Amino acid sequence: PPPSTTSYKIASIPADGIGPEVISAGIRVLETLAETYGTFTFDFTHFDWSSERYLQTGRYIPDGGLEELQRFDAILFGAVGDQRVPDHISLWGLRLAICQPFQQYANVRPTRVLKGVTSPLAACQHTEANRQKLDWVIVRENSEGEYAGQGGRSHVGQPWETATEVSIFTRHAVERIMRFAFEVARSRPRKKLTMVSKSNAQRNGMVLWDEVHKIVAADYPDVETDKMLVDAMTCRMTLSPESIDTIVATNLHADILSDLAAALAGSIGIAPTSNLDPTRQRPSMFEPIHGSAWDIAGKGVANPVGTFWTAAEMVKWLGQEEAADLLMLAVESVLDRGVKTRDLAGTARTDEVTASVCDEIRRIG
Ligand code: ATP
Ligand code: MG
Repeated sequence: PPPSTTSYKIASIPADGIGPEVISAGIRVLETLAETYGTFTFDFTHFDWSSERYLQTGRYIPDGGLEELQRFDAILFGAVGDQRVPDHISLWGLRLAICQPFQQYANVRPTRVLKGVTSPLAACQHTEANRQKLDWVIVRENSEGEYAGQGGRSHVGQPWETATEVSIFTRHAVERIMRFAFEVARSRPRKKLTMVSKSNAQRNGMVLWDEVHKIVAADYPDVETDKMLVDAMTCRMTLSPESIDTIVATNLHADILSDLAAALAGSIGIAPTSNLDPTRQRPSMFEPIHGSAWDIAGKGVANPVGTFWTAAEMVKWLGQEEAADLLMLAVESVLDRGVKTRDLAGTARTDEVTASVCDEIRRIG
């Protein structure tokens, strides 16, 4: 009998700066992957939600937009940011306006040094074994914490003006992200989780994190776990990367640690992020970690690898693990041959990297 074909409905939101360039590269690679595989297809719908649209209409997402997104299997997101719009408006207007109602409470960032990429860490250079010393997954609480948006300002403009930025930590949200992180740790060969907090200085929310960590750890006796203060964690990430596997941290802490992680892995142009609703009741959203990078927008030199890795994470979430592995194999073999963009000290353009990855998928697929 002919193999059955699954069709995945994907919403693409390229948005600003290099977003459209890297998303169209990502779609080319995903279509090549589906053709090569033959057992699934992608059905893309494009949404022009962007800062340009905001400047014209005063809205990032039109009426009914979120309801429309709801019917997709996944969302592929580019980048949002424009110097004519304050960053907190664009972030809350588009990205968080999707993450929050869709309850994408787990933000996941895999980090490793891909073949052909040089880490700035001496310990991770020169040999294949060294390269593999850095292999992490950072799990970030994505629904509350320091980015809950609570607080306010009083006595505006006065010397005694006061601004409060209130962090919200609920047992419900801390426990669900902790369980999710233990599940991620359990699914990996080393079964090891480091919980990051700052409970020496912040004595309410961070102590709750510590307590919940201890309670949830009891349900995962097969996962080795420890806890670190966030400041000490930055040292450990740079000095003994091999001692780390899975990390769980708050919205703010993990935001910072994951940029550090991306830099240690060689470039912010290569790393992906998944914003997951682990209950799978609503679509999850996948995006490269880099921003809109207007300085290189429209020049055809943006590194598309962050979007390729993002695409691989999306394909994995959709249940096509083998295809995701094939995509990453192709990406690494192309990088290893030296077909790289400027940010990785190469000379290739976005299109050349994209075409090489497509050829490689067809060759090894
Ligand atoms: P945003 O305000 O949306 O965060 P940004 O301009 O701060 O955008 P980032 O993505 O944070 O951009 O990146 C900082 C710099 O890193 C960019 O200005 C760009 O030079 C470089 N960069 C980022 N992403 C890429 C990429 N995919 N390929 C090549 N260079 C990149
Ligand atoms: Mg930025």
